[in-house]
Amino acid sequence: MAGSDKNIWVIANWKANKNIQEALDWVAKVGPQIPKQNNLKVVVCPTFSVLSEVKKAIQVGNFPMLTGAQDLSPFGVGAYTGEEPAAILKQFVDLAILGHSERRQNFGETDEMVSQKVAQALANNITPLVCVQGKDTPVPDGVKLIAYEPIFAIGTSNPDTPQNASMVAKNFPGKEVLYGGSVTSTNVKAFVQQENVHGVLVGGASLEADEFLRIVKACEEI
Ligand code: PEP
Repeated sequence: MAGSDKNIWVIANWKANKNIQEALDWVAKVGPQIPKQNNLKVVVCPTFSVLSEVKKAIQVGNFPMLTGAQDLSPFGVGAYTGEEPAAILKQFVDLAILGHSERRQNFGETDEMVSQKVAQALANNITPLVCVQGKDTPVPDGVKLIAYEPIFAIGTSNPDTPQNASMVAKNFPGKEVLYGGSVTSTNVKAFVQQENVHGVLVGGASLEADEFLRIVKACEEI
């Protein structure tokens, strides 16, 4: 049981990886080993096309895991070809990662679009997890969960220091702030031990079931 009462989020961002079979193999391996602990929130964020299968597998296994999307549409339902509206996604997800730096860099996502997406998420009871790249990234009203993800640390094996992550987190009082960027089972504990850090958003290291489980177990002991 964790020594602290703070919520600890461990969120797997699979990015554009894993087909249905690979996703189900991961859930079958990880799901039964997630500790049932109220303050430990484990979330998996697959691609849109495998979300429903992942959700079903988690429900059938009764695993203590939530599901998230990696994005959602800034618009509602209607004539928006190719979009995934929150009003439909809410069947499958509890949370949505919004404003990830890969979306800002590769898809021209702006702060304005992020705030439209947040509004859609909130209107549909999906928890928005807004990624900030530093203390100056705007956070739309109503957001309670933030991931501090410095660009230099994403996918580089060059994480920020836990101390700096904690200092950045202090700029968002009243929010739960996670750290993301080259988190592994070796460094995760140093981040979540920081008073202001409420968990981690994990990209590359979440893809391998055993490594992800080591990350979760390290958080269980906080
Ligand atoms: C991410 O993409 O959100 C991320 C933190 O990636 P990685 O863990 O691979 O640095």
